[in-house]
Amino acid sequence: MRVICDYCGRETEKSTGHVNRAKKINSKLYCDRTCAGKAKRHNKSQKELKKEKAEYDKQYREKNREVLKKKNQAYNKTKAGRATQKRNREKMKEKHLAYCRTPEYRAWKKEYDKKHRAKKNYGEYWESAIILNQLEEFIDNREVKQELGLINKSQNRKRKLNNYGKAKC
Ligand SMILES: [Zn+2]
Repeated sequence: MRVICDYCGRETEKSTGHVNRAKKINSKLYCDRTCAGKAKRHNKSQKELKKEKAEYDKQYREKNREVLKKKNQAYNKTKAGRATQKRNREKMKEKHLAYCRTPEYRAWKKEYDKKHRAKKNYGEYWESAIILNQLEEFIDNREVKQELGLINKSQNRKRKLNNYGKAKC
């Protein structure tokens, strides 16, 4: 059977069975292996291929998010899954510890702990508890300052200095 090569366009002889099979599976026909190889060849660089694969993977993950999530959760409950999680934690350990030392994290953690404790101890009144606590701190500070003579400290100092000066004269 005479058919046309899908790559070079030249006529070529193929058996009827071969042609029928190609039609059935919707594949192309080439005159020889060289043309088949050239037809398969693409002019994409490694970088382009990687980019395409990354894009494909992204779309795949988006399309199958729910399924993948369930699969992942199930895997995490297995012994191998827990081992993987442990390995990942080890890998991230240094980075995580460095993050924990940042002022931003510390400030956030302080706030978080305060809220956590208030919620644990006072339930639905946790917000009032925090405000009350702040007030108490403020009042305490004033009391302590008063007792230690720390209020109007600079004014007192000036007064003393003035008296000292007068006494000398
Ligand atoms: Zn050909």
